[in-house]
Amino acid sequence: MHDHNNTLEWDINDNHIPKRLGTALGTGSPNTVSGVTTHDAFQEWADGHSRFVYRPDSEEARRHSSGWAMRNTNNHNVHILKKSCLGVLVCNKHCILDNGDTIHLRPAICDKARKKQQHKACPNHKCTGRLEVQPCRGHCGYPVTHFWRHTEFAVFFQAKGNHDHPRPEPKSSAEARRVGHSYKFSRGITRSLLLNNSIASSLQF
Ligand SMILES: [Zn+2]
Ligand SMILES: [Zn+2]
Ligand SMILES: [Zn+2]
Repeated sequence: MHDHNNTLEWDINDNHIPKRLGTALGTGSPNTVSGVTTHDAFQEWADGHSRFVYRPDSEEARRHSSGWAMRNTNNHNVHILKKSCLGVLVCNKHCILDNGDTIHLRPAICDKARKKQQHKACPNHKCTGRLEVQPCRGHCGYPVTHFWRHTEFAVFFQAKGNHDHPRPEPKSSAEARRVGHSYKFSRGITRSLLLNNSIASSLQF
């Protein structure tokens, strides 16, 4: 198991999660320490069964951020935020771009927006495919889950499952793509006119 805080025994669902820095408790040995000894650097692509402890002032941790497209999920424990993976948007023809890359876009977190993304024309101009969501089945057939829990001294993170799909493009490039939208929009219409003489399918892109 890849685990930076492996000197500590804790599970995010424990009643008593470590609350204080080990040094504050005055214990020297990392094996006997009952608190968090170090904070981890933020892990954008945490995968597999993993646990991290972030600084309470970590901006990414405060936003419960991830490279994976995660949406809030109901949790019986209101003190622990649970999120589950939405997978990735892929081309239904699984086309390969000139640079050898494949289509792996970021699914929208909002249900309505994500519904709109599907069945759009594949952004590869040489491809006639459509976008579809490849769901995550990385946790015993169900989506990978992330758990977040805040204490005064740390933000605890725990992931369960191994993503069984490509990484979605990071948020930053998804935003950059949105800026260049008008260009793709006109290209999409042109392509659509040439291929099937219909612009209806591209109007929403
Ligand atoms: Zn590591
Ligand atoms: Zn395609
Ligand atoms: Zn996933």
